[in-house]
Amino acid sequence: MQTRRDFLQKMTGSVLALSALSSTAVAACADPERKNDSPVLRVAIMGLGSYGTRVAEAMKTCTKAKLVGVISGTPAKIKAWQTKYNIPEKNCYNYENFDRIKDNPDIDAVYVITPNGLHHNQVIRVAMAKKHVICEKPMAVNAKEGQEMVDACRNAGVKLLVGYRMHFEPHTLEIIRMRKAGEFGKVLFFQGLSGFIIGDPSQWRLNRALSGGGSMMDIGIYSINGSRYMIGEDPIWVTAQEPPKTNPMKFKEGVDETIQFQLGFPGGAVASCLSTYSLNNLDRFFLDGTQGFAELMPSTGYGPIAGRTHKGVLDQPVTTHQTVQMDEMSGILLEGHQPIVAVDGLEAVKDLKIIDAIYQATKSGQKVELHL
Ligand code: NAD
Repeated sequence: MQTRRDFLQKMTGSVLALSALSSTAVAACADPERKNDSPVLRVAIMGLGSYGTRVAEAMKTCTKAKLVGVISGTPAKIKAWQTKYNIPEKNCYNYENFDRIKDNPDIDAVYVITPNGLHHNQVIRVAMAKKHVICEKPMAVNAKEGQEMVDACRNAGVKLLVGYRMHFEPHTLEIIRMRKAGEFGKVLFFQGLSGFIIGDPSQWRLNRALSGGGSMMDIGIYSINGSRYMIGEDPIWVTAQEPPKTNPMKFKEGVDETIQFQLGFPGGAVASCLSTYSLNNLDRFFLDGTQGFAELMPSTGYGPIAGRTHKGVLDQPVTTHQTVQMDEMSGILLEGHQPIVAVDGLEAVKDLKIIDAIYQATKSGQKVELHL
């Protein structure tokens, strides 16, 4: 493990100049807010696609996490990332040889940002290489695979976190704080709307083997996960309906276009949600209780997140979600911090159990009981 000070010294290329300064002064140069010498999480990103790029850019302003390695099947991308992010050759891997990361003491964690259907195998390989894993959502394509990933990480003695960036988002956390403080009274209703119009029919998101499903896996999961952190309970039943598909070219067998679903919670609340690949401007959470309400719109996009409650407009700071997520995950992985809302593999398995049940309910038309 490398401390933040070690890292700063290496990055400047002027160890002598920096060591002449006190540690407090070094810290203050880079981050006036920082109060102590936190360790830096050294991360390799696997999958240099669109979201991997977003994470890499956001990590430039992290204070507790640093991009130090890459895993990709495309040599040209590796070269470009090496130049852009100053990544040494010894920290570059491809999908065939990344098990060798086990012998690399300069990488603490691998962030898996590949198509969903690949996560299971890749996460287990990273765990066997004894590195902590951060995996993108959905963590797997079903709960069974998700549980196997959790077990593999536990057996290997590494931690498994999932890229639930909203769990660190200030407007979201303020609503959670208000709910815990009882400011909404008894919460009885949540609405989650999650969707966008998907384009290119040949993309992996519309390929069942790589995606594990359709809109539900990709975007509907935000309403599922959101219902849980907004209400503050895990659901005990689900019902779901899938209307006829509008485009057989895009939405083949096993790839859902639109599903509406309902979740029941032990305290009596119900959630009513829509997941779709055929509507834009669908990113809204609404929570209602006997004494107040909260609305987030947009609720899970990259931001800025906006919201209001019965007390007025929320004015929490606007953040770059992935920057905050990676700094917070550094604290969780290296310092044992506990997040306000869980971001571990078991949290993801709960969402996958709900997704399994939603798919089951759309086929059977029956209510499915959940045991999370
Ligand atoms: P993408 O298609 O832009 O990137 C995927 C990357 O995986 C590419 O670099 C591709 O080359 C690589 N890859 C490796 N093997 C592949 C294969 N067999 N087929 C296709 N690509 C392969 O996708 P993305 O949007 O970056 O999504 C990647 C993951 O990140 C998904 O799990 C997705 O759900 C997740 N994601 C999360 C968020 C978020 O806000 N948390 C946002 C977008 C995507």
